[in-house]
Amino acid sequence: MSKSLEKLKEQISFLKKRKPAYEEILNFYEKVVEEQERMRPAINIIPLKIKEDLKALQMKEGFPLLNKEDFPLDLASSIELFQSLCQIGKEATSMIREDVQKIEHAIKDGKLYLDELLRKHSNPDYQNKIIEEMRVNKMILNFLIHISIQPSIHANVEKLKGHVDLRNWLKGYCPICGSYPQMSLLKGEGQRFYLCSFCGFKWPGERLKCPFCENKEHESLHYYFVEEQKTYRIDTCDKCKQYIKTIDTRELDHEPDLTLEDITTVHLDILASKNGFKKPAPSPWAP
Ligand SMILES: [Zn+2]
Ligand SMILES: [Zn+2]
Repeated sequence: MSKSLEKLKEQISFLKKRKPAYEEILNFYEKVVEEQERMRPAINIIPLKIKEDLKALQMKEGFPLLNKEDFPLDLASSIELFQSLCQIGKEATSMIREDVQKIEHAIKDGKLYLDELLRKHSNPDYQNKIIEEMRVNKMILNFLIHISIQPSIHANVEKLKGHVDLRNWLKGYCPICGSYPQMSLLKGEGQRFYLCSFCGFKWPGERLKCPFCENKEHESLHYYFVEEQKTYRIDTCDKCKQYIKTIDTRELDHEPDLTLEDITTVHLDILASKNGFKKPAPSPWAP
């Protein structure tokens, strides 16, 4: 077992004791990560050729390194992962079981092709058609696709991150793939970092600025906590009525795993949603 997986499993067992309401979903997530780890060494990606001068110019203009649909995938391992995650999902929670069964039937009946589904991971028109035809939950389908291609995406990011010039990148979207952040982190002297909802890349951002509409007016940017412990908070913007969850890592004794922290702070999403705020990068466990 890798050191990072060992640490993550320790964190999961700690969280299960501390937040028993999340036990079922944490058990599921633990199995997902184990399966991803099992596949990771076999991932084989053909590296993209980046034209340095052209990319430097594009990044200066605020364009990310590449589009989500252009990430090369290891399709064979993504398919294998999708199939084993379906199996795990069926056994894990009733919430996922029904949808997984619909997906499996569609594959068996030749109505759905896994290679196409995974290749078109960022094609909303194709996905909406599938969701309508099969009557599956959009979040669950997207989640299954996302975690199946995630090891490939991360392998790409490892190869691409050296090409990113962060010196002048003060955008609220990812310099590698252009996606909005799933969460943000505060580190050191209060420096803010964003974590990409698609590729997992981490980039520094301005502390007092809405990443979604670039609003910088202090009087319309707020944050609040729900726990005595001030580690987790919601940062809201009154201008665009959107929010981002933020972890103050200075209060943490471990390097946070984005998905794990997201899963176990769903109560913050519920609170934000009750107050009329939306999340641009939704996750399947949040309302
Ligand atoms: Zn990204
Ligand atoms: Zn905003």
